[in-house]
Amino acid sequence: MTFADLGLSDELLRSLGDAGYTEPTPIQAAAIPPVLMNRDLIGIAQTGTGKTASFVLPMIDILAHGRSRAMMPRSLILEPTRELAAQVAENFEKYGKYHKLSMALLIGGVQMGDQVKALAKGVDVLIATPGRLMDLFQRGKILLSGCSILVIDEADRMLDMGFIPDIEEICAKLPATRQTLLFSATMPAPIKKLADKFLSNPRQVEVARPATANTSIEQGLVETSARGKRETLRRLLEASDVTTAIVFSNRKTTVRELTDSLRRHGFAAGQIHGDMEQPERIRELDRFKAGEINILVASDVAARGLDIKGVSHVFNYDVPWHPDDYVHRIGRTGRAGAKGKAYTLVTPEDAEAIDNIEKLTGQKIARIGKPEAPVAEAAEAQAPREERPRRRREEPKREARREEPRRDERQRDERQRDEPRRESRAREDRRRDAEPADDGWNGPIPAFLEFGFGSN
Ligand code: AMP
Repeated sequence: MTFADLGLSDELLRSLGDAGYTEPTPIQAAAIPPVLMNRDLIGIAQTGTGKTASFVLPMIDILAHGRSRAMMPRSLILEPTRELAAQVAENFEKYGKYHKLSMALLIGGVQMGDQVKALAKGVDVLIATPGRLMDLFQRGKILLSGCSILVIDEADRMLDMGFIPDIEEICAKLPATRQTLLFSATMPAPIKKLADKFLSNPRQVEVARPATANTSIEQGLVETSARGKRETLRRLLEASDVTTAIVFSNRKTTVRELTDSLRRHGFAAGQIHGDMEQPERIRELDRFKAGEINILVASDVAARGLDIKGVSHVFNYDVPWHPDDYVHRIGRTGRAGAKGKAYTLVTPEDAEAIDNIEKLTGQKIARIGKPEAPVAEAAEAQAPREERPRRRREEPKREARREEPRRDERQRDERQRDEPRRESRAREDRRRDAEPADDGWNGPIPAFLEFGFGSN
């Protein structure tokens, strides 16, 4: 199957050729023809499957005819995060380079002036996060009545982030005769309801979940302890085949602290999390893409859908709370046919979360080595902190003290977690927060770490 078989224009075939893409991915092959025929569509697919092009390509051809009018975008793409919105915009630039379509990006955290000016002139494509769009709509700067195509991307993440009421309101403001495309990795009941309400006779296409089907990602669980996590991670990062890595953590504070710790140990590490301003996030991403840093420590929301080529490894410093996040995280590697490795640090208390992940993906994840439980460590975990023997290797005392979050910082962090909707986990988080700071691996070095881990 070729892109030409899908009925795309010559201009698009040229830009696809320039991008080096010869064959449509399964989601593209399944979605492009019905979208070109103006059908509504439900696409069940993850990032990493080529799903962005599956709506961007046909949209470019559909929008090639017709003219934009002041304040009335002709199409609207809703994305849950600014990074994803920016990525979709890049896709329009890449594939639409032989077309004359205009585009505006409306995302939180950046100056709106130029975007509002572009909107006032009229744009063919508006890519927005729901919050910012509603904000502008309420200020009367935009009319949605000329919008004939709506894309709701990453609908399940929109649900997680509490955007569904905004989306319903936005849908109600669009013309009833529009074409609507909804993409989601999973179809929980509220998304199904949304689709039933706002899509008309949609074609449903589904591609296998990368976590179950993507054999290009080698996965493993690395057993460690709460206190040994940083040391274990450093050992993993030192493996010879780690060229670029994204390290995921569940909390913003951990992202910050871990980045500082890695830098102190000489790693070229940067960070991206929900508390950072947009320009700062973009700067870190650019540094990562340019190879100035090769390790990016990230929180889930900030890293959602990031499409960075050639990420050799993903490390889950924390086991994600939601099994779906596991699938999204590991999908940052092994993209577009490349090989990737994804390792997850697990402590005994993560057993249930791992179980849930394995249930969701229908796969057992290989246990890679098990550090011999150091007797002293187990004893230390019981003992009051002051009485613990200090047998730290490598890390000087002063550094370890700096790494330990102050109590008030920990409390503040609890209120500032990336995902406010996860309040039910507060107790669990408090337990995590109360855990002793990781001041190094005190036990013997696990055998598997000494044999060039991951270098086969
Ligand atoms: P997405 O699922 O949209 O995040 O896309 C994942 C990656 O696949 C991106 O880097 C795309 O540029 C790339 N990609 C999209 N379509 C193709 C294709 N037909 N062949 C090879 N790579 C592709």
